[in-house]
Amino acid sequence: MKIAVLGAGLAGVTTAWYLAKEGHEVVVIDREAEVAAAASGASTGIVAASRAYPWTGGELGRAMRQGMRRFDPELWLWSMQHLFLRTGGAYRRVLEAKVRLVRYSQPLLHELAGEIGFTGMSSGVLYLYRDAEALDDAWTRAERMRGHGFSVERLDRAQLAQREPAIDAARLAGALYAPGDEAGDAARFCRELAARCRPLGVSFSLENDILSIEHSNVQVREVVTRKGSVRADAFVCALGVMDRRLREQLGTHVPVYPVTGFSATLPIVRPDGAPRRAAIDESRGVAYAPLGTDLRVTGGAEFAGYARDCTPADLAPLYDTVKQLFPGALDYAAAGARACRRPMTPETTPRFGTGRYQNLWFNIGLGHMGFALAPGAARITADLVCGHQPAIDLQGLRIRRH
Ligand SMILES: Cc1cc2nc3c(=O)[nH]c(=O)nc-3n(C[C@H](O)[C@H](O)[C@H](O)COP(=O)(O)OP(=O)(O)OC[C@H]3O[C@@H](n4cnc5c(N)ncnc54)[C@H](O)[C@@H]3O)c2cc1C
Repeated sequence: MKIAVLGAGLAGVTTAWYLAKEGHEVVVIDREAEVAAAASGASTGIVAASRAYPWTGGELGRAMRQGMRRFDPELWLWSMQHLFLRTGGAYRRVLEAKVRLVRYSQPLLHELAGEIGFTGMSSGVLYLYRDAEALDDAWTRAERMRGHGFSVERLDRAQLAQREPAIDAARLAGALYAPGDEAGDAARFCRELAARCRPLGVSFSLENDILSIEHSNVQVREVVTRKGSVRADAFVCALGVMDRRLREQLGTHVPVYPVTGFSATLPIVRPDGAPRRAAIDESRGVAYAPLGTDLRVTGGAEFAGYARDCTPADLAPLYDTVKQLFPGALDYAAAGARACRRPMTPETTPRFGTGRYQNLWFNIGLGHMGFALAPGAARITADLVCGHQPAIDLQGLRIRRH
């Protein structure tokens, strides 16, 4: 079968890999000049498996209220659906679906990394809290995840300082530590995987905008791109955040809305004062992870529509957080920074399957957990395209038919 995979981020490249391994002819199309140039290039690279909660954090709620001041019917609809998630039964169902997916995905990530020789993953992630009450709440909440088999430990200040000697622990009440969570360079993973796809016959059509989708009744015939039309037997939509016009042609409601975050890469100038392991400062909503001689720092959740701007004010909370925790360790003047958009569904879980068109498969909505979920999401998508039964139950993870 000839299969066109639309999008060369984590979702698209991992899907292309599994499809090529099944012996299919695959072409991956993306508007950017390189693989993993959009959301997948901004990731902190944390595999926060023990945190596979539906994302209902205060930060997202605040951003949603702000965003809803603008009149954007799409955001209003998304927000209404998201608020439903905060009711007990819906929350539990989504949590179960997300846990199922992450538990399936993490071993596949290890397997893939082994197969392509990807190195540099580090084990153990810290979740930092600035006040004791928030730490208590988080510990209570973690009970649920421990019930699902995730290991989570509670650290007081002294234990935290032992695990992360350079941190200014006096600013914190303590931390949770998940030894099974991990971190690595998600963009490098995606690019190395793409490089290993090429010998399998996968071709990449980059700097190529997908303009429209041509269909005949219930089949997609071709996608029209800036460089011409691409015909295929099957298509996989892994476009992350996509233009409204294109989304309207997909034959089903694609419930993805962009949640903008900010990502900076800062050279480490004093290694003994810098973090050794990845962490999320939960009180600030700021994550960081060492990437070789740099530190990746990310944060922010904004409903800023489709804009891609990033201002010094957006970065200030990120810089302020790591400046406090690791004074003098980083070179802020040499930082590279960008805004990026997480492709988020109201439930904060991805969607798979087909809508109206029988040969157009979706792998969308990896949201805030794309590195953690991409291998599982891709394996499921490849199984569906090839007519195999996916290895996990897809309840709560299917795209609407129409
Ligand atoms: C600041 C930030 C920090 C993050 N940190 C983490 C983390 O620590 N751990 C984690 O697991 N996840 C994290 N994520 C989430 C993760 O990065 C995303 O879930 C993941 O990258 C989504 O992958 P994707 O392939 O679906 O989307 P993308 O990477 O956005 O890929 C979609 C691709 O489709 C292309 N495209 C779209 N429209 C068109 C078109 N019309 N024509 C051609 N090409 C098109 C785009 O160019 C893009 O390359 C973070 C995200 C952000 C923004």
